[in-house]
Amino acid sequence: MSYILVTGGAGYIGSHTVIELVNHGYKVVIVDNLCNSSYDAVARIEYIVKQHVPFFNVDLRDSDALDKVFKQYDIQGVIHFAALKAVGESTKIPLQYYDNNIGGTISLLNVMKANSVKTVVFSSSATVYGDATRFENMIPIPEHCPNDPTNPYGKTKYMIEQILKDIHTADNQWRSAILRYFNPIGAHPSGLLGEDPLGIPNNLLPYLAQVAIGRRDKLSIFGNDYDSHDGTPIRDYIHVVDLAKGHISALNYLNKLETGEGLFREWNLGTGKGSTVFDVYHAFCKAVGRELPYEVAGRRGGDVLNLTANATRANTELKWEATLSVEDACKDLWKWTTENPFGFNIDNYKWQVFNDDKSDYSNRLHTVSFANGFKVSLANRGALLQSVVKNGTSVVCGFQDPSRYIEKSNPFFGTTVGRVANRIGGAKFELNGNTYQLAANEGANTLHGGFHGYDKQTFFGPVAKQEKNGDKVVNTFLFKYEDKDGNNGFPGDVECVIKYTVDDESVGIEFIGSHLETSPAEATVINLTNHSYFNISGTDSTDGTVVKAITNTQLEVDDSLLPTGKFVPTHTDITKPTKIGPDCAFDYCFVVNEAGSGIDTRSDELKPVLEATHPNTNIKLVAATTDPAFQLYTGTGIDTPGFKPRSGFCVENSRFVNAINVPEWRKQVIVKRGETYGSKAKYTFVDA
Ligand code: NAD
Ligand code: UDP
Repeated sequence: MSYILVTGGAGYIGSHTVIELVNHGYKVVIVDNLCNSSYDAVARIEYIVKQHVPFFNVDLRDSDALDKVFKQYDIQGVIHFAALKAVGESTKIPLQYYDNNIGGTISLLNVMKANSVKTVVFSSSATVYGDATRFENMIPIPEHCPNDPTNPYGKTKYMIEQILKDIHTADNQWRSAILRYFNPIGAHPSGLLGEDPLGIPNNLLPYLAQVAIGRRDKLSIFGNDYDSHDGTPIRDYIHVVDLAKGHISALNYLNKLETGEGLFREWNLGTGKGSTVFDVYHAFCKAVGRELPYEVAGRRGGDVLNLTANATRANTELKWEATLSVEDACKDLWKWTTENPFGFNIDNYKWQVFNDDKSDYSNRLHTVSFANGFKVSLANRGALLQSVVKNGTSVVCGFQDPSRYIEKSNPFFGTTVGRVANRIGGAKFELNGNTYQLAANEGANTLHGGFHGYDKQTFFGPVAKQEKNGDKVVNTFLFKYEDKDGNNGFPGDVECVIKYTVDDESVGIEFIGSHLETSPAEATVINLTNHSYFNISGTDSTDGTVVKAITNTQLEVDDSLLPTGKFVPTHTDITKPTKIGPDCAFDYCFVVNEAGSGIDTRSDELKPVLEATHPNTNIKLVAATTDPAFQLYTGTGIDTPGFKPRSGFCVENSRFVNAINVPEWRKQVIVKRGETYGSKAKYTFVDA
């Protein structure tokens, strides 16, 4: 399988381009040293495209590390974004700009050459033209406009173009597409990706967005005495998604050349339409829905009246054209800004790699901490809850060592369970006239989704966000897993999203299973839960924990732990405070609503179904769910090094066990094509 290597793929334009590449069927590898970006962008790319995108935290100047990437993947071509890009900064630290941009490119080209990769699309800039207004008849700017960059940043772009030209002259099999961007603006329409400028933004729209969100007082308009319709300068603003698509067109163009044929050619990527600063200001105010404060300041040094592209060459040769407007870009930028007011930067959230191989970022541990010391950690594998710390006490069982999670003895610590939690009798069921035979992984039954259930899957994401409402801080984390038709024997394509909502005393979990419109199966079966083991004793045993539930009714089970269909009282009345321990153990499905439920219970009441306290600590756990049942399991079977039996207990929200094989219960778990399964659970830890 061949790949496109994207340098700087975690950055603003690179991340949007990776999405377009995947959408156009390309496989992508990203190399980025994250000096001006965040891995969260890559996590969100994977979340959007629902595919793993290999990522390497490598500086381009480290040619050995770069070479390893070329050896590991069959690289067919490179899109080269990685660079430092701030014009003002480049005049202050020019050496760093030359070293990073030119040094990085030379290292990249050497490694490409050594690996016989000779196709490159290069991020250049309209900056190479300098002040095109110095000529008559050069606006809109054509590619043949003489170059005269006026700052070190622009000079690095100019020099790299020259290097690529010389390489092509020396070896005419090299294929270089030079893309000269005008003013990229906007964000991904999903609201998940956008520009995340560190410090004070230099560019017009990122600055204006920070004014709108309240991070800056007002916009300074740099001069209103230019010769334009409103006196402000004219630029060619291009939506970043249009720009990203231009790279696909350029790559396709290079790939269509005859075998052995090379090329060196420049293309302007712009809309061909100029907008003034006030035009953009008004478009953004419209997207925001109010007038934003501004003042007219003096002209900014180096600014010129008009820099609009002549994009005819790209239009005709690459068959590419910008289709989105400044208004579209403003709308998308505003969505990105309101949904991510601090970009990817969330002040109470940190992550670390949660794999033995620290260069593999696919499984990470995400920790969110609150001012009162409440701390929650989640991992991509199984979208699991690894740890909750309340008042200095660890109240959820979990492993510190990621490799422990893949051991057979792991009793599903903290994990999401699916596609069907709990048991399916005889490892089979019938649906729409078909019999589905599953793998039996517990006697004759299927337990917790089979041998390759959701607990063993690495979820994409998370999309991590934070909302602040006065003193209240709420963090959300979205994880996604694509469960394909036939996995573990289940029919239908299901997209599973697990949404954690964490505040300074609780962990909420929303379970969403969408049976996709495009699924080959008419219907499927879903029952999702979380398998955390709680322990609020402050010791390694839950013995003595006092539980009190909303119901004493359980599903009666036979010898193989399958429901008989009867609702019966449990052995001890747990609607009264009940001390759990060796003589009072539970592993039963308790029924909150004998009528069962529909397929999506998310808008039903989030009912507190069980509370637990322990005399050792001052902590009370309240478990709530929208589901019609919950499994209370007091952990008798825990048998994994470091954890003894009854070192944790589970309160797993659930539909009725084996519902798919019981006619009156089936409607709880059958999800037709296009329908969505949903439920909620919440675990609150308060002072008793
Ligand atoms: P960005 O800073 O968001 O992305 C650049 C990425 O490259 C970052 O993720 C950074 O971490 C990475 N990077 C930098 N040096 C690296 C190195 N030595 N090794 C590995 N990774 C490195 O910037 P962007 O706006 O997405 O720009 C992408 C490219 O487009 C740049 O080359 C830039 O000069 C060019 N460009 C941008 C604009 C613009 O207005 N945004 C305009 C014209 C051209
Ligand atoms: N601009 C402005 N106020 C700002 C930033 C930019 O008035 O805070 C103007 C700037 O003078 C220029 C236009 O907006 O005319 C675009 O500037 P930007 O820095 O975004 O891009 P440039 O075209 O300079 O690369």
